[in-house]
Amino acid sequence: MATVELDNIKKRFGGTQVIHGVSTAIEDGEFIVIVGPSGCGKSTLLRMVAGLESVSEGEVRIDGERVNEREPMARDIAMVFQNYALYPHMSVRQNMGYGLKIAGLPKSEIAAKVDEAAALLQLEPYLDRRPRELSGGQRQRVAMGRAIVREPKVFLFDEPLSNLDAKLRVQMRLEIRDLQNRLGITALYVTHDQVEAMTMADRMIVMNAGRAEQIGTPLEVYERPQTLFAAQFIGSPS
Ligand code: ADP
Ligand code: MG
Repeated sequence: MATVELDNIKKRFGGTQVIHGVSTAIEDGEFIVIVGPSGCGKSTLLRMVAGLESVSEGEVRIDGERVNEREPMARDIAMVFQNYALYPHMSVRQNMGYGLKIAGLPKSEIAAKVDEAAALLQLEPYLDRRPRELSGGQRQRVAMGRAIVREPKVFLFDEPLSNLDAKLRVQMRLEIRDLQNRLGITALYVTHDQVEAMTMADRMIVMNAGRAEQIGTPLEVYERPQTLFAAQFIGSPS
């Protein structure tokens, strides 16, 4: 569990500024959704929290500690992407344990952590299968399992459901929230889908062109949009 603070963070690529100073304090165990149209800077913001992208100005703090210069692995952060890139030649068990193996954990400890995560994600029957023998939802759960075994303090999701069909997407929203609630892990979740944001978020950051247009609970944003953009974006069908 952890708090995450974004303190006026900015990002420039060459001469182009793509993030114009975003600030918010995320509480322990909170589920924050960053929502906005394609190209508005959601992934860049998330990647700065992950340490995959440098911060041009401002600070990211996790549990009060400035992490701008820390390596991604040293941040206790796990990230789940849209293309979850499971290793096709490895079993589910091997996929889930791979990061721990790289980190040098003993086999027995890896097995125990993988079993625990598999139970949590109802993946026990599939541990010896290869990714191609799984459904899209099951693969998604393996990707989350791979993140969970590392016992991260913060969970980052970048449009993790975009490749799934509509029905599965709705189901996985509930599964992700349920899992995050049970583990109590602070989460930042990126989507371009306003319905997904509204149904999942404790609070949402509505982004447009590198700026946070509004930060608030889904109800606050829905009932009292603070900008024209927020009103139009949240009010339009996805
Ligand atoms: P989103 O995830 O909301 O679709 P991104 O964060 O991917 O948006 O991109 C925000 C802006 O930053 C876009 O204009 C994109 O072209 C630009 N951008 C992203 N990554 C890079 C990069 N590595 N170099 C230059 N420009 C980039
Ligand atoms: Mg993106």
